[in-house]
Amino acid sequence: MYFNEANNFYHGIMFHHFHDDGIHTKGQGSISQDDLYKLIKFIGRSNILDADVFFKKFKEKKLNKREVCLTFDDGIKCQIDVALPVLEDFKIKSFFFVYTSLFRGGGGQPDNLEIFRYFRMNYFNNVNDFYINFYNVLNKDLSNFFKNNEEKIKNNKIKFPHYSVEDIKFRLVRDIFLKKSDYENIMFLMINEKKFKYKKFYSKLFFSDEDLRNLNKLGHTIGLHSHSHPTLMEKLDYSDQEKEYKKCVSIISKILGKSGDTIKYMSHPCGSYNEDTLQILKKLGIELGFKQIMTIEKEKGMNKINNSFLEIARQDHADIIKRMN
Ligand SMILES: [Zn+2]
Repeated sequence: MYFNEANNFYHGIMFHHFHDDGIHTKGQGSISQDDLYKLIKFIGRSNILDADVFFKKFKEKKLNKREVCLTFDDGIKCQIDVALPVLEDFKIKSFFFVYTSLFRGGGGQPDNLEIFRYFRMNYFNNVNDFYINFYNVLNKDLSNFFKNNEEKIKNNKIKFPHYSVEDIKFRLVRDIFLKKSDYENIMFLMINEKKFKYKKFYSKLFFSDEDLRNLNKLGHTIGLHSHSHPTLMEKLDYSDQEKEYKKCVSIISKILGKSGDTIKYMSHPCGSYNEDTLQILKKLGIELGFKQIMTIEKEKGMNKINNSFLEIARQDHADIIKRMN
């Protein structure tokens, strides 16, 4: 049974990665087509609203506790290849939130995160093998850094139970010890060494302009997810945030051939935003925004739930799969 006291505040289910037997390799947090079928049955088909119906009921304050919508972030191709056939099978129309730098009309520059993820999973025996290689190239003594962050490592292990300690340590090195550009330099060194021709994979890993038009034609709802997908939007100043969202509106509307003011939906990249973000989104006429909340955060009272129409809570599919097993 999906719905219970601890869960009733979620109105969106959030999906990212799917795997199959082909190009979309299994990785952290990815689910199969079969898992998606089971998950939809677990929630109950009749509790899942089409995106446009969800929006309408939300506006009219007629949503009941047991009504959710499905949302897909980041314009990753596995959503088209693996998830879309299931959605069509069940006749479920969903939200797709895309960042626009990945589109031809947006510069054709997808977020390196996805490329790095593919590289990590396909060019090494396992993820720990990757970490060992990475630390070799980095060639720095990290013992003090890990010692100083002992508390943080422990806390993160509680907050993200599906990560191993090695996963958490790597993320701390990536996000705190290194500057973004240093981290990316190391990754591209490794990529060149292994002769991974990543640009050839763009079309296999990311949505094309045609994919976006096709989703729109099928009746799915396309929404904003910034232009370049900053991991911490809340750290950008007002004008940079405004550029992120204005660019996103203009590229999506150009690709879909509709005017920008018809796009009324968004999700916050990595769940990060601040007061400026909300003000910008209101100014752009956005009427529905989603964030993500970990169940654990809710339990700790770390986050207010559904505190405005631009902050609707979503649950990660990985958390639901865990409850099904
Ligand atoms: Zn995202």
